[in-house]
Amino acid sequence: MPDQHRIVVPAQSGRSIRVSRGDLVRIIDPKGQQVADLWAFTSDMKDWLSTSNTRDIGERLFPKPGEHFYGTTGEPLLTLVEDASPGPHDMLYPACNHALYVRAGFDDHPSCQDNLHKALASEGVSLPFTPDPVDLFQNSLPQPDGRIDVFASINPPGGYVTLRAERDLLLVVTACSVDHYPTNGGTCTEIEVEVMAVR
Ligand SMILES: [Zn+2]
Repeated sequence: MPDQHRIVVPAQSGRSIRVSRGDLVRIIDPKGQQVADLWAFTSDMKDWLSTSNTRDIGERLFPKPGEHFYGTTGEPLLTLVEDASPGPHDMLYPACNHALYVRAGFDDHPSCQDNLHKALASEGVSLPFTPDPVDLFQNSLPQPDGRIDVFASINPPGGYVTLRAERDLLLVVTACSVDHYPTNGGTCTEIEVEVMAVR
């Protein structure tokens, strides 16, 4: 019988999740239109999910089911097993961050970048930099004229993706904090993560 547990990532926050090689990880948007940022680090913290390597090796803006997310050394860290959402997803944008909110006129606002580092701190990990995240359910495909902008997510309530860990990993998932722009449909809500250990 698979061993399963579920983590709720409250609105505008982040959580760390340790998974073992072979585990299935389902990232669910229960209320819909909520972007989830995802980071993956090897448990020794020597490698992490690289969006640029993933675009390069897969020769796509985002993997298709069956394809991998790669680390900085080109090793597969995660596989996209199932996409039960209409997409699109993003691998071009950084995490929302303090400077972005200051530019938007908010001096004190939660951000995915701060929430990543808080979640890592809860694991005793301090990073001097911020890898770019995988922005699940983010509706920001490049326009034909080369422009990029973020539109309201079209993910319906319950839309999810399922990933398989190809290494023992420390994952961080944030429920994106943007509430001044259409990104999350105008309301920030929670994200749920289900880990299924198949033994
Ligand atoms: Zn964000």
